[in-house]
Parts: sequence; structure tokens; C-alpha cells
Amino acid sequence: MANSKYEYVRLFEQPDTLLANTWIVVRIDGRGFSKLTTKYKFVKPNDRNALDLMNAAAVAVMKELPDLVLAYGNSDEYSFVFHKDCALFERRASKLTTTITSTFTSYYVFLWTQYFPDKPLTAPLPSFDGRAVCYPSDFNLRDYMSWRQVDCHINNLYNTTFWTLVQQGGMGAREAEQKLSGTYSADKNEILFREFGINYNNEPACFKKGTVLYRDFYPTSADKPEASATETQVIQPASSAAETNETYNRHSRRAVKKSIPSLPQK
Ligand code: ATP
Ligand code: ATP
Ligand code: MG
Ligand code: MG
Ligand code: MG
Ligand code: MG
Repeated sequence: MANSKYEYVRLFEQPDTLLANTWIVVRIDGRGFSKLTTKYKFVKPNDRNALDLMNAAAVAVMKELPDLVLAYGNSDEYSFVFHKDCALFERRASKLTTTITSTFTSYYVFLWTQYFPDKPLTAPLPSFDGRAVCYPSDFNLRDYMSWRQVDCHINNLYNTTFWTLVQQGGMGAREAEQKLSGTYSADKNEILFREFGINYNNEPACFKKGTVLYRDFYPTSADKPEASATETQVIQPASSAAETNETYNRHSRRAVKKSIPSLPQK
């Protein structure tokens, strides 16, 4: 590009290259979803369609960005993990974060009607914020995932108990809040079981633990093991099987979904 007298303003741009050889996690979170869930009358505490929509948008992001290896989501948030040796956008934080956030938002809005055919979107439209953080060791990355999963667990146990008190116990929001104030996990489990006959352990795993997406690597050649396609559930949202296979083969990778198997007990 030709130099102009204006060219110097580029020097005001700050470098934001993320530390080499570290896991990069980009976490997105819905903006003002407490309001949005009321506006569109999400089923409380867990609207299955809303979670499925989050998962579908996340799968679409993973397909568009082959450098992503793993993602974890719950509620209105999703964490996307780039491999330690990722070189995409020279590891520039703003490029990585804004690309993930806008791609996710685009798909969330685009796919909305599939999951909420009777609830057309109106302004203000859903939007998400995003941030990028580096984790130097595998141990740190695992603890990051545990941190988000424990958050999911604590929130879900609280929300499940709160909404059971309101919906089945006929309590007002304030009254339910007061009853739960200062309680431990064991107390909430007890309220659910003794007063409502609900065994929290039997709640769906994706409500209690969230959802993991990971990329499964396999050789593109004919020696691909037959079994691998059926071992895990392959997500194919909003695209034909042929189109999906084409995408997978091009990247020699598959996006698959599974619930996290274990959760630390509080
Ligand atoms: P912020 O913009 O600061 O993130 P927020 O209102 O989005 O504000 P969060 O802490 O992100 O605050 O909380 C998200 C809210 O959306 C919670 O109240 C959560 O219960 C609700 N929510 C998210 N997903 C669902 C769902 N699938 N079903 C029901 N409620 C949901
Ligand atoms: P990157 O992801 O690095 O931004 P890019 O392909 O988007 O890659 P840009 O430098 O942003 O690269 O260039 C945008 C391209 O889109 C240019 O080729 C420009 O001519 C084209 N373009 C943008 N808007 C229009 C438009 N309204 N009509 C025709 N062409 C357009
Ligand atoms: Mg937020
Ligand atoms: Mg939010
Ligand atoms: Mg949130
Ligand atoms: Mg461009």
C-alpha cells in the first residue's frame, strides 16, 4: 500500500500478541441475559432450547476456526481453547477475541429461529462480550475448566432449588431467596429431596455440568477406523450430512460433543 502522510497513525496501535507456547482461552458471555431470558420467557432454571442454541453456535465456531481444539459451555457462556502452538492472527488477542465473539454472535442470531420458531428476535438483539486469557501449563488449563464447571454446578444447584421453591413451593422470589441465604450445597440437596422429592443427582448432566465440545483428530486416508464415527455423538447442526463431512475431511478433524464425566464434590 502506498505511504501517505496519515500512515503514522498506525504507530498508535498497541501490540497485543499473546505469550507464545501457552493455551489461549477465549470466553464469551451473553450481555444482559438475565433480561433476555425474561423477555423471551426462557424456561427456568434451564431452557433446553436456549442451551441447544448455545451449543449449536459453538459447534459452528469450531467448524469455522480449525485451530480450536476444545470448548466448554454452560448458561450464557462458552470458553474456546486454542492449542499452545496456535499461530492464527499471529496470536493477537484482539483479533482472536473479536473473531470468536462476532462469529458466535452471528450464528446465535442466525440459528435463533430454528430453536425458537415462535419467538422472533426484536431489538436489542443478543450480543456477547469476550476476553482472551493465556494458561501456561496443562494443569492450569484443567483448573480453568474445573473453575467454570464448579461455577456451573454452584449456580445450577442454587437456581434449581430457587425455582423449585417458587414454581412448586408457591414462594415469592424474595421469600425463596431468604430461605436459601446462608445455605450449603447439602442443605439445598436436602430441601429438594425432603420437600419436593427431587434427587438433584438425577437432573440432566448438561444442566449440572455443562457441555464439552472437542475436536477428534483422525487420518483422512482410507485407513480411518470405522468405529470412531459411532463412538461419540457427532453434532451436525444446520447443515446437511454431506456438507458436514466435507468440512470435517477438509480439516481432518471432527467436532463432537460429550458431557464432562466427573465433577468435584463440594
Ligand atoms: P452480564 O451482561 O454481566 O453477563 P447477565 O445478565 O448476562 O449480565 P450472567 O451472570 O451472565 O448475567 O447470567 C446469565 C443469566 O442468564 C443467568 O440469570 C442465567 O440463569 C440465565 N440463563 C442463561 N442461560 C439460560 C437458560 N438456558 N435457561 C434459563 N436461564 C438462562
Ligand atoms: P481480513 O480477514 O484480513 O480482514 P479481508 O479479505 O477482509 O481479510 P480486507 O483488507 O479487510 O481483507 O479487505 C476487504 C475486502 O473486501 C477488499 O478486497 C474490499 O475491496 C472488499 N470489499 C469490502 N467492502 C466491499 C464492498 N462494499 N463492495 C465490494 N468490495 C468490498
Ligand atoms: Mg459478562
Ligand atoms: Mg451474561
Ligand atoms: Mg454468564
Ligand atoms: Mg477484512
